[in-house]
Amino acid sequence: MDFKDYYKTLGVAKTATEKDIKSAYRKLARENHPDVNSGDKGAEKRFQEINEAYEVLSDADNRKKYDQLGSQWRNAGPRRGPGPGGGAGVEFDFSDLFGGGGMGGGGQESAGGFSSFFERFFGGGGRPQQPRGPQPQQPQPEQPTSVDVEVTLAEAYSGTTRQLEIASPQVCPQCRGAGVIGNGICPVCRGAGRQQGTRRLEVRIPAGVTQGSKVKAQGVTMVINVKPDPDYEIKGRDVIRKTSVDLYGAVLGSEVSFRTPSGKEVALKVPAESQNGRSFRLSGQGLPAAAGKPAGDLYVKLEVTLPTKLTPREKELFEELSRLRG
Ligand SMILES: [Zn+2]
Repeated sequence: MDFKDYYKTLGVAKTATEKDIKSAYRKLARENHPDVNSGDKGAEKRFQEINEAYEVLSDADNRKKYDQLGSQWRNAGPRRGPGPGGGAGVEFDFSDLFGGGGMGGGGQESAGGFSSFFERFFGGGGRPQQPRGPQPQQPQPEQPTSVDVEVTLAEAYSGTTRQLEIASPQVCPQCRGAGVIGNGICPVCRGAGRQQGTRRLEVRIPAGVTQGSKVKAQGVTMVINVKPDPDYEIKGRDVIRKTSVDLYGAVLGSEVSFRTPSGKEVALKVPAESQNGRSFRLSGQGLPAAAGKPAGDLYVKLEVTLPTKLTPREKELFEELSRLRG
């Protein structure tokens, strides 16, 4: 944690008047505003520093406290009892002045863009007692977010990823959550201190999700909807597909091959004299095991197709077959 020379940040003398400070701040804030320096990290950081300096120096109480800190700021903090070897030099007790602040860690910047120096002495209890303008809002804990996510059957088999854009309130970049700038209401958030923003996430959906599965990742709950597949019917983790075989294959026996939703090539032997609608179970070839549930099965149901547009000769042969069976 470093000492922050707020006068230097604003480029004003220690004796500067309130008006001097205000006009120096306005000029610097305009020059370094993120809107006119988009993507410039340096300007963004300067803008935060300028705002922080102004937050302290524009308030008579804060400025007084800051001036008292001076070079002895390191000794400021919570009251310490007279410990062994307590000759640490000057002992200051600023805990009354700063509302018991003294949380100072070694951190560089806090989440709100304030330095740890500021957070230690002016954050929290160190803020002015009389609010100027609207009350700054405390950041609210993020609401649990639920989104519907549609996946294909193939994705349910193998897992997939999704980019999500989640609506997420963010601290107003202009006033950094204070709701006020100088003596006026912040024009960007109109005093709310927060703005509607979006959060982008890449989330992983594991293999083996089923209709209605809930997947939690990065604070978001995804409710899974498995997209209907023209080739498959899905029942829980079991998957059913139809496969056609012609009359001769069903009567005499044959082999059919197809790809499972996981992309695996499967060859299925159709025994001779298989009836239309006969079903074959491929154990464990349904949706894969997940969430403590075993893998489902893949059912293959035969659909026997009958010949059409018979030639006179074929018709003769069927008539002969019919006489034989009759
Ligand atoms: Zn604002």
